[in-house]
Amino acid sequence: MPRNPRYDVLFEPVRIGPVTAPNRFYAVPHASGMTNSMPRMRAAFRETKAEGGWGVVCTGYVSIDPASDDAPLPYATLWDEDDVRSHAMMTEAVHRHGALAGIELWHGGGATMNRLNRMPSMSPSGTAWMPTHVSYIGNQRPRVMDSRDIRALLDAQTRAARLACSAGFDIVYVYAGMGYLPHEFLLSEWNHRTDAYGGSVRNRVRIVRELLEVTREAVGNRCAVALRISLEELRARPSDRAASEAHEVVQLLADLPDLWDVKMDSETTDCAPSRFTPEGSHEPVISFVKTLTGKPVVGVGRFTSPDAMVGQISRGVLDLIGGARPSIADPFLPKKIDQGREEDIRECIGCNICISSWHDCVPVRCTQNPTIGEEWRRQWHPERVPPAPHGSTVLVVGGGPAGLECALTLGRRGYDVMLAEAEDQLGGRLRFETRLPGLATWSRVLDWRRSQLQQLANVAVYRGNRLTADEILELGATHVVMATGSRWVPLLYSPLEVPAGTVDGPNVYTPDDVAAGAPIEGPVAVFDFDNYYMGSALAEQLARAGHRVSYVTPSGHASAWAIMTNEQPQTYRALADAGVELHTLARIEAFDGNEVTLVHMFTSARARLPCRALVIVGARLPEDALYRELTAQRERLAAAGIASVTRVGDALAPGAIAHAVYSGYRYGRELDADESAGILRRDGPVRIVKDAPTSA
Ligand code: ADP
Ligand code: SF4
Repeated sequence: MPRNPRYDVLFEPVRIGPVTAPNRFYAVPHASGMTNSMPRMRAAFRETKAEGGWGVVCTGYVSIDPASDDAPLPYATLWDEDDVRSHAMMTEAVHRHGALAGIELWHGGGATMNRLNRMPSMSPSGTAWMPTHVSYIGNQRPRVMDSRDIRALLDAQTRAARLACSAGFDIVYVYAGMGYLPHEFLLSEWNHRTDAYGGSVRNRVRIVRELLEVTREAVGNRCAVALRISLEELRARPSDRAASEAHEVVQLLADLPDLWDVKMDSETTDCAPSRFTPEGSHEPVISFVKTLTGKPVVGVGRFTSPDAMVGQISRGVLDLIGGARPSIADPFLPKKIDQGREEDIRECIGCNICISSWHDCVPVRCTQNPTIGEEWRRQWHPERVPPAPHGSTVLVVGGGPAGLECALTLGRRGYDVMLAEAEDQLGGRLRFETRLPGLATWSRVLDWRRSQLQQLANVAVYRGNRLTADEILELGATHVVMATGSRWVPLLYSPLEVPAGTVDGPNVYTPDDVAAGAPIEGPVAVFDFDNYYMGSALAEQLARAGHRVSYVTPSGHASAWAIMTNEQPQTYRALADAGVELHTLARIEAFDGNEVTLVHMFTSARARLPCRALVIVGARLPEDALYRELTAQRERLAAAGIASVTRVGDALAPGAIAHAVYSGYRYGRELDADESAGILRRDGPVRIVKDAPTSA
């Protein structure tokens, strides 16, 4: 299909200093979870974006100095020749597709704990960054930088910029954002210096200016110099010289960088979940930048709609459309727009499972794109699947995320697929979960798969069909996939921190009961030891429906795991706005229909709360009775010609939607594959620098 001329502007080349981006699609630096110990995985992951049409593809954060160490968080390094080779794998891969490669050079300052190298970290005035946040918590203060440290920082940037050039990068960054060292200089709370680097905005910006200057000197005309900067706090601060301190900073640096890459200050605002924050949320903070510089500006906003992207260009907000999450969910987003296939874009749902991978210190995962991070290790590709080696029929039972992904992958490979769903609507857990406060965008998981399935003549979808074992035996499939999901169970939480023991009493519900429309009478207690979104979202929903709601959790925080997805601060705000009472570090011991008894996790102190309905959001068990019934009848299976019965998704191991999608894809991708399928290739660091001789 030809490209819609409305989107032509997105495919215009953009000059960035001495280099030219082939189009306006810019995969900005973002954490990939892939360190220098995974150079092949990293190169293949970024190559896929370049192949998918992103005109610029950047690294994540790359340390310029062994004194900036973020371990165990997965950061990259550019310290020596080994590192050059490691990154060159990526630049070569990206260049193969005509894209530019950018590198985000980084010094963490007071936001790094230097846990591995055991050197005290350093910051402008000895103040740590967000020291109660789990990523930054530590018990040693940064040391105050002196003039030699400033010189050493500039030298490290110079050295790294030269190495970046020799690794083949086209765009080299100075990174003054997200609480890292140069950003700490910009903010007066972190910078109390009385020398030329502190005080006025002009002084506080000096280190950024000098970093830009030494980078330019190091790369000459070979590479563009980009400045990545967080402007949220600065924008909120008045200035007597400009509209805000952010305006003053941009005015002072105006045309010094070849490219402005503008962003917010902290993970929770920069990479906000769709549950609380809409697409394009950065615009009010960054929209002024283009009025103060003649250089191109790139910014992000979880853009997946080409119309929104064109709007950013035509309204003069951005020159390049930055994408981190949209480029993960669909590395082929630009190509699909170019080919007039917008409806095929696998849109990011804003769940931030990708961010959780970084917090978990592992390669990136994605709810929408099961192949991300697996391009080299498993040889998976987001757009291509190997054809089925022979024709056979596969029955997929259950049309939730796992079943949908499985049927789609099998269908793309050419199998004859029957997908049976018990309910009238596809979607499984999404049917209810997308009706919870803020989660409507998650329906993209269903919408995309449903529309892709409709394009496949070899996949037949049967809705309103709750299959029995006898029916399955009669259907003539060679393989049966059980994607029947899981159910919530009303178990309490034992002192050993495991789901155990039931609660006696009326009006005890699970999320499944609420989904089915159980008549809830307040006051309500929601007991959450699932720790992700379900407990807090249900509490919010019930409170907004007019009930008095207490949220109780054995964890120290509401939705404790949601810190991994940047959701926790907004979760607290949402619960407070809805008037939900919080009781943390408490488990529920008993419920008599009028009151629940809470026990403090550490002190065992007891307290009672009024409660007429108890909603337990704790454990889920696989819905696998049908699987067990079938697999117990070996002879009947053989007689029916069924070669295998396999569980996928929640029916195998209840988890997040991302787990279910991955599980469904993996089955579909690996059915009848050769022996190499399923084997994880092991990546390893590049070693060309000889080990120093050890003394005897
Ligand atoms: P997952 O996240 O693993 O995809 P879900 O719970 O979201 O799991 O979806 C499971 C789906 O399977 C639900 O839509 C449910 O209605 C469907 N299902 C369960 N048992 C049967 C059955 N016997 N026949 C057809 N569909 C079933
Ligand atoms: Fe988007 Fe979620 Fe995928 Fe991240 S994990 S890219 S937020 S869909």
